[in-house]
Parts: sequence; structure tokens; C-alpha cells
Amino acid sequence: MTEANPYESLQEQIDEAADFLDIPRDHIERLKRPERVLETTLSVEMDDGSVEVFDAYRSQFNGDRGPYKGGIRYHPGVSRDEVKALSGWMVYKCAAVDIPYGGGKGGIEIDPSEYSEGELERITRSFAKELRPLIGVDRDIPAPDVNTGQREMNWIKDTYETMEGTTAPGVITGKAIDSGGSAGRVEATGRSVMLTTREAYDHFGKDISEATVAVQGYGNAGAIAARLLDDLGADIVAASDSAGAIYNPDGLAERAAREHKFETGQLTGFEGATEEFSNEELLTMDVDVLIPAALENAIDAELAERVQADMIVEAANGPLTPDADYVLTERDVAVFPDILANAGGVIVSYFEWVQNRQRMSWTEERVNSELERYVEDAFDAMVEAHETHGTPNYRTAMYAVALQRVQNAAEEAGIWP
Ligand code: NAD
Repeated sequence: MTEANPYESLQEQIDEAADFLDIPRDHIERLKRPERVLETTLSVEMDDGSVEVFDAYRSQFNGDRGPYKGGIRYHPGVSRDEVKALSGWMVYKCAAVDIPYGGGKGGIEIDPSEYSEGELERITRSFAKELRPLIGVDRDIPAPDVNTGQREMNWIKDTYETMEGTTAPGVITGKAIDSGGSAGRVEATGRSVMLTTREAYDHFGKDISEATVAVQGYGNAGAIAARLLDDLGADIVAASDSAGAIYNPDGLAERAAREHKFETGQLTGFEGATEEFSNEELLTMDVDVLIPAALENAIDAELAERVQADMIVEAANGPLTPDADYVLTERDVAVFPDILANAGGVIVSYFEWVQNRQRMSWTEERVNSELERYVEDAFDAMVEAHETHGTPNYRTAMYAVALQRVQNAAEEAGIWP
């Protein structure tokens, strides 16, 4: 498997889109680099009285369109380059779906499974203390990412509010409902994957109820996308998690498969499957739609040569290496990019922030219908850019839309010394 440096991948994607736009080269260079990166060390007392030191980062990539926005991840692989790249993707994701945010991302280099809840709380509060001068409802709004969730967001919010002597639920999103979270947030990413697939089918004049779908990664994003596509009548014929893949050519009885996963922790062993195979075989199956919903770089150039799906909808962030993207474009496989397909999470985060500012809560119905509108509008803008600029694929078209929006905001503001 080829490992692509995420920061270089991001810069390549920006360059490719820039070729179709009339933006001066020096301005493009500015849009390829973060504005600032906090690099800090957290010294935290462990349960046994010892002190452990952790590396932590927050990258604020671009704030031309609004406050920096993006998650905080806890993972041993977190690095300065990784958070820089992820913060850049957030800029273009927020601009692609036209929400008034810039992009940020942060993380701690840690394997959270090795620490007690009390230690994780102290580590999180220590990070929140470091973040305090940088974040704020109108400055930078973190959210959950890999290995962080409502619990960590509630700790960060509480630390910030205590230190500032105020209430500021909008300083962070992805909170529990009782702490100011939004209805529909948990489902939002899977929902935008479903909406993107549905729009793609409409665009090609095809009937979604006749689609066969394979989903790699049956977690929050993948399993919810599968359920919602199943609700539209599509057949989920294959699904996988880290333990392996299951298959049934007549459809997997999606609800029962999900229950089996919930009860046993894995998909394999599900009695409604006719076959089990490896994850790699799932990625090269003959289906209409392939949804990679696990990890970045899941499909490299060699695998891309063997993909048989007509369409890929990216639920995961960066599931294709740049080389794989090139191969799939050459092979005429339509790829609907992550910055559109999985943007539901950040769109509903935006709704959460709006509700916090309004000090009111919306119904789940309202959240879902607003989300649908944002995804449809972004899809239409992407197709229009594809047709007007003649971009080689939809990813470049979506980046071109996003890049132009960021550049417009930067130009209107002017350059401050
Ligand atoms: P998750 O942890 O809930 O689920 C991940 C799933 O992938 C699990 O079922 C795991 O078993 C499976 N998996 C791991 N390695 C695998 C492998 N090699 N082959 C097959 N399956 C494998 O995570 P999630 O929140 O669903 O996130 C998945 C992807 O979606 C990530 O790239 C994430 O960045 C992206 N994403 C998620 C959200 C969100 O709101 N959850 C938002 C935007 C993007």
C-alpha cells in the first residue's frame, strides 16, 4: 500500500484545481499553507502520581471565510504535517458546501486506550487550557474527530467557560444534546453520503432503487449511509469492517447485519451473508456504487486498476491516494469527493453553532431538511464547474468551486501587512 504524505496530497489537489481558475500564482501559494500552527506539550499527572508529557497541535489554516473550524483527534500517528493537511481540507470542505467557516484541525499524539478516564479528562483539560487563547465562538471552533466524541467536547467547553467566566456553548460542536448539541448530528455524515449518492444517480438519470452498493468500514459514517441508502431501495450487497467483509448478491438485510455487528462487534459471522471475503476483494467487487468509509489511502493505484464499481462516493477522508485518483479518472470511474460527500458532519456542526448563538434548538426534521438543501446546492455547483471548466473529474471541480470562494473572500478583504 502506498502511503501518501497528506500535506503534499492537499497541495496537489489545490494545484490541480487552480489550473482551471484565473487566480494569480502567488495567491495560490498563500492558499496552500496554514496561517499558524500551535505546537505545544502537555505535562499531565497520571493516576500513579507520575507526570507524562504529550505533543499536541492546532493548525489554523485559513480564516478568510469565517472562524477556523475542525476536529481534534487523539491518535499515536498525529503529527504537525497531518494536522496541517487536515486543517486545509476543512477550509475547502467548508467552502465547497458554502458554510461561513475557515478551516482548522488539532490533535494529541496519544493512544487513548492506554489511559484511564480520569487521565483522559486531565489531558483534555490541559489541552483546552493551551487552546483557550486561540479558540472562541467567533475565532476557532473545534469538534470531535478520531477517538474523541461528546465526552471530550463537553470537557473542553467546560474548561473554556470556567476560565473565561462565561457560558459559550458555541465554542465547540459535537456536544451532547443536554450540553447544547444538535439533533441529527450523529447521523449527519452518513446522511450526506446518501444524499450525494442520490444526487449522483439523479444526475446520471438512473434509479437509485436499482443500485447495488458495497461499503468498506461499518462505523458511524458507513453504517448510517448504508441504512439510509437501503431506505431508498438500494441493495447493500457487501459490507466490511476491520475483521473482514460479508456479501449477499440479493442484499444483506441491512438492519439485521447492523444488529449482528452491534451484538458481536463484527460483521463476519452474519447468517444473512452468502459469502465472506477480504477487504481488498470488497474494494474490487462488481457493484454500481463503492463507498469507502474506513481510513485514508484505502485505495492505491494498483487497486484502482481493479476497481469494478461505476461510481465511488467517499465517506472517509482521503480514501484514494492521488495516484489512485488519476487511474480512476483515466478509467472513467465517477468519484464523488469527500469534501462534498462527508461534509454532513461539519454542516450539522454549523447548525449546532447557529442554534447555540440563537439559544434555541431546531427539530431533527428541520436539521435534516436544511442539510439536504446544502448538499444539493453544493452538488449542483460542482456539476456546473465540471461542465463550465471541463475539469477531468468531480473532485477537481469541487476544489475549483471551493478555492474560488476562498479567494473571493480574501480579495474582498485585501492583504493586510
Ligand atoms: P468509525 O470508527 O465509527 O468506523 C470506522 C469503521 O471502519 C469501523 O467499522 C472499523 O472496523 C472499520 N475499519 C477500520 N479499518 C478497516 C479496514 N482496513 N477495512 C475495512 N474496515 C475497516 O469511524 P467513522 O466516524 O465512521 O469515520 C470513518 C471515516 O469517515 C474516517 O475517514 C473519518 O475521518 C470520516 N469522517 C467521519 C465523520 C463523522 O462524523 N463520523 C465525518 C467526516 C469524515
